[in-house]
Amino acid sequence: MNVICPIPIRDYPNVTLAHGGGGFLMRSLIEKMIAPAFDSGEEFLQHDSAVLPQPKGRIAFTTDSFVVRPLFFPGGDIGSIAINGTVNDLAMSGARPLYLSCGFILEEGLPMETLWRIVQSMKAAAEAAGVKIVTGDTKVVDKGKGDGIFINTSGIGVIEHDLVIHPKSVQPGDAILVNGDIGRHGIAIMAVREGLSFETTIESDCAPLVATVQELLSAKIEIHCMRDCTRGGLASSLAEISATANRHIEIEEFVLPVREDVRGACEMLGFDPMYVANEGRFIAFVPQAHVAAALEILRRGAGGASTSIIGHVTEKTQPRATLKTRLGSTRVIDLLSGEQLPRIC
Ligand code: MG
Repeated sequence: MNVICPIPIRDYPNVTLAHGGGGFLMRSLIEKMIAPAFDSGEEFLQHDSAVLPQPKGRIAFTTDSFVVRPLFFPGGDIGSIAINGTVNDLAMSGARPLYLSCGFILEEGLPMETLWRIVQSMKAAAEAAGVKIVTGDTKVVDKGKGDGIFINTSGIGVIEHDLVIHPKSVQPGDAILVNGDIGRHGIAIMAVREGLSFETTIESDCAPLVATVQELLSAKIEIHCMRDCTRGGLASSLAEISATANRHIEIEEFVLPVREDVRGACEMLGFDPMYVANEGRFIAFVPQAHVAAALEILRRGAGGASTSIIGHVTEKTQPRATLKTRLGSTRVIDLLSGEQLPRIC
């Protein structure tokens, strides 16, 4: 990481309204700090839109806004989430992410050094995901009218295969795999907000899923559906997919991978780990014949050691997700009512 902020801190220790005003200061912020970090070439500055070659294949297009509080937390920050969140949504459609846009809404008074750290973190995350940030926007709102920084990223990816990766492709008999332990992102954020400390620091699982998904695709795994378990956690992803697919999904509680420290924190805070947000976890629906090969690939990913088969799609007709508890009873997995953890991403 470049350790020196290119905007002279002595002159501009904080973001001012003029940094979003379209004039000299805004241009210098983009020219000196943002464009070089994103390394998107001359194009970034020279025109009103990025003009890009048309990729061969279907394209996937997605957008997401990031308002996480605090801006920095163990295992990540608003910058890394803003990149990973969007590239992961592209990856979940089986797309290889190509380009991102980035819109900053900055609050007057944001320390320039903070912005610099976030931009550097976005640069590193974009490089890790193999994606280019090709266009963007910067606005500044008055002090007290924002919360430091909000980021919007949109992304375009190319689908280079013939699979239709979608809830409607889910079939009875499909196994449901999760690529590692769940609940760490939400707990990492809550620990900072509530000033909780545990024996070991719980770090967010925030990570790009691009390489893992690309590996699954190159290995010709017949993926029926994938979804990243972000807001609302694993439970919400399961409930949404069963509803869209019009299929019954059954999950086994005793195989859910939850770290002991995360489970303890959840008990203390009154959360169910199935509903806690993740930023590097996804579920994949694959036919039985492809399970072994898929597991092997998922286990190689970040935090992948606890990759598990958590359940399957049944022949039953009720379109709902159910959980077989440790005690042997069955309960319905519903969408969250209300917000469990606001401003988690
Ligand atoms: Mg998603």
